[in-house]
Amino acid sequence: MCGVVCYWAREGLLSRHQYDLLFTGAEQRGMDGFGVTIKGETIRSLKVLGPYSSERNNVLDFVEQFMGVGDILIASCRATPETEKETDMEMIQPMEAGNPIDLVLSHNGGVTDSVKDSLAFDYQTNIDSEAIIAAYLQFGKNMKNAMEFLSGSFAFVMLDTISNQLYAVTSFNPLAHMYIRGCGYFYHSDNDVLTQVLESITGAKRDGMNVWESWYHHYLPGYTIIQTDLDSGSQSHTEYDPRFLHPVWNSTEKEYAQKTYVIASGGIDSGLTTHLLKLVGRDVTMIHFHYGQKAERAEAWATRALSAKFDVPYLYFDLSDLYHKLADRSMLLRDEIPIRSGGEFLKSTIAWVAGRNAIFASIVLAFAETSIFNWNYSHVDIAAGWAQLSEETGGYPDNSFYFQQALNMLKDFGYITGKRIHFLPVLQRITKTECWSLGAALKFPFELTVSCDNPKMIGGGPWLCPDCGSTKMSIIAADRANVKDERRFTKERPKLSKPTSVASHRTIIDRLILTQAEKEKLREMI
Ligand SMILES: [Zn+2]
Repeated sequence: MCGVVCYWAREGLLSRHQYDLLFTGAEQRGMDGFGVTIKGETIRSLKVLGPYSSERNNVLDFVEQFMGVGDILIASCRATPETEKETDMEMIQPMEAGNPIDLVLSHNGGVTDSVKDSLAFDYQTNIDSEAIIAAYLQFGKNMKNAMEFLSGSFAFVMLDTISNQLYAVTSFNPLAHMYIRGCGYFYHSDNDVLTQVLESITGAKRDGMNVWESWYHHYLPGYTIIQTDLDSGSQSHTEYDPRFLHPVWNSTEKEYAQKTYVIASGGIDSGLTTHLLKLVGRDVTMIHFHYGQKAERAEAWATRALSAKFDVPYLYFDLSDLYHKLADRSMLLRDEIPIRSGGEFLKSTIAWVAGRNAIFASIVLAFAETSIFNWNYSHVDIAAGWAQLSEETGGYPDNSFYFQQALNMLKDFGYITGKRIHFLPVLQRITKTECWSLGAALKFPFELTVSCDNPKMIGGGPWLCPDCGSTKMSIIAADRANVKDERRFTKERPKLSKPTSVASHRTIIDRLILTQAEKEKLREMI
């Protein structure tokens, strides 16, 4: 709630219609009050109790009369939140502070009372947004430190007329920016409104149309401070770590301990990932999911065997009841649907399981979050086998680079510890063939893995069918890498490829997603 508007008329003025688009668009987010402040030679403001549209002509007359090239306009359309008293004239933003006025603030969001009260500041209003000004001043005008102290929700624009800086800050409330050459620079709560203004000025509707355009407009990333130096026009973008309140966890304290979780199926990719992370000295735990898959007994055997071999703990989450209730008719789950993933359906989603990687990732994120609450880890990595180069050709959208990006959005906005959690797609730039080649050189126990859609447990150990898509891919990769395949098969293992040339182990290690120091450790082991 509340609409934020800012226009820096750096190179030109807008038409009456264009100002109206900005204010009308912001009014969609707040109709209880409207305020506009113009910083030119002096600072002038106009406030309305009620919606912008009730005083449209007066507001637009005011803006046209006082707005000049080089000036900055900041406006707010207020919606009264349930957490606050009814709006009166005093509560309408932009908030102006200093005597003479040197700070102008338009804030959409709320500030946690306990954090506001903990600042030693002589508050002049009843508006929680004043805590932004208090923190900014208390932290010596260092906006990053101020934002890492404050808690609440934020999308705001603040002008400091002494240092001549314009700040735009977002946590998880929306704020978009736009620049149009020949006009100037905009902030608005609603990117679609900027689209309308862009179209009114240029006739075009969006950014990214061609290389010749003279504008951009899009939402800002979350937890970001954009600081614009109004004298030079130069801009800096700074990420900050948001502060969240929780009964047992203090987000401003860190233990500086690191933890790595590997989502492990018992297959080669997640197994090799675990092996590499253990070799470089990480504190690793494997996490396995039971979701009613036909391969579960064999996968559980493999996960246990690998965790024992690497001497890392493992735990598992049982989602079989969930998948039973979902009534997912996947060939990996249902006995009445045969496994047909190995033939002409390779590179397809024929063996799809509804939402599998998304569900696994969200659960492991929740586990990472509770482990941060309990152990105050400063850094938790989540690795999985799904992000791997060969998987990209497989037709699964949840093995893709974009899925990884979606998870990065999810962790930042679905979890309050997201800034401490990182995805570590160790094998993202490595093919399955290279996995076999590197694994063999580092003594990875391939014989303990299960990469098969339809394995059998015989005599207490897993036997793979050589016909499914997963097994076929791994056989081709082993043959290409020219590695002796010691896994057991329910039928004679076919030979599916001749050996091919494979990049050197040094080159493969170079392409792993690990730190340079960790790669150096691996190189020394070859
Ligand atoms: Zn198989």
